[in-house]
Amino acid sequence: MAIDWDSLTFSFTATDIMYTATCNQGEEWQKGELVPYGNISISPAAGVLNYGQGLFEGMKAQRSVNGGIVLFRPERNGKRLTDGALRLGMPPVPLEMFLEAVEEVVAANARWVPPTGKGALYIRPVLWGSGPILGVAPAPEYTFMIYVCPVGPYFKGGMHPIALKVSDDHHRAAPGGSGAVKAIGNYAPGMMPSKNAKKEGFAEIIYLDSVEHKYIEEVGAANFFCVKDGVIYTPELTGTILPGITRASIIDLARHRGYEVIEERVDIDFVLESDECFCAGTAAVISPIGAICKGEICTTYCNNQVGPVTQELYDALTSIQTQTAADEFGWIRAVPIPNLPAK
Ligand SMILES: *Cc1c(COP(=O)(O)O)cnc(C)c1O
Repeated sequence: MAIDWDSLTFSFTATDIMYTATCNQGEEWQKGELVPYGNISISPAAGVLNYGQGLFEGMKAQRSVNGGIVLFRPERNGKRLTDGALRLGMPPVPLEMFLEAVEEVVAANARWVPPTGKGALYIRPVLWGSGPILGVAPAPEYTFMIYVCPVGPYFKGGMHPIALKVSDDHHRAAPGGSGAVKAIGNYAPGMMPSKNAKKEGFAEIIYLDSVEHKYIEEVGAANFFCVKDGVIYTPELTGTILPGITRASIIDLARHRGYEVIEERVDIDFVLESDECFCAGTAAVISPIGAICKGEICTTYCNNQVGPVTQELYDALTSIQTQTAADEFGWIRAVPIPNLPAK
């Protein structure tokens, strides 16, 4: 069946093959295997279903301009999954096993990787407590799965700035909680606020810190940046913010290009006076922010156009990701594909 690359969006498409491995509490991970993509069967008493003992990761495989299929800093995702597993009392997936599994499942679904510029193969590793457990405690068995899904470019027809609303009623994470790991339970509480903001015409919510309700934490599920007088600011990782790999890469790239990048607490009042804002994550890479509203106060940035620093960093990062530019930082990892047809 031919795939219509131009009609790809960011919605779910089933692919051919998924990866699955299991581990009993206190034992080693068993060797994983590739199986046909499909529904799984699970105990109604599974730890993940009852107590949210689960984590996810999000990464992309892209078709490089050289014809190969490449991953972007996948070892960082593996490391973050380990950090999350320790936080949620789950057995970490060894990094080598994680990387091998990602490569195997991408290679097995190579036909689903869109041509360069038409999107990417989104990779979704999940780790959850699959064994039955009645009392609140770590599950007796864990499952690590990876499925993949082709996605179109996040912004069809080029980047366009989004409008955001600062939430005055909700917070994403509290000190000492699970905000710094990709715990599945962190996301459902954001759905209602985000849905309400969308009803009002905003693309997403901006969350402030839960203690002083003053400092920017994140934009939905993306990290935040602003630019003032040529200096780039981003919220420091205080333990309530998810350490984005896109965020870390933008900081490195910007510094390498001569920008001063300051990681500190970023006051919403400072942001409303800044020159340019954007948010960053694997899905969109970078989204320009055209407006931010806090209550009745709204600031428009760069005349609701894509700002110059935003554009520069977006171009720099995406050209490394598709290998249009040299991989100066060693961020790209090629996926070995047996018999990959030339494009
Ligand atoms: C995944 C995620 C991000 C972005 O992380 P990347 O590694 O850049 O994709 C930011 N914030 C939250 C809450 C996330 O879940």
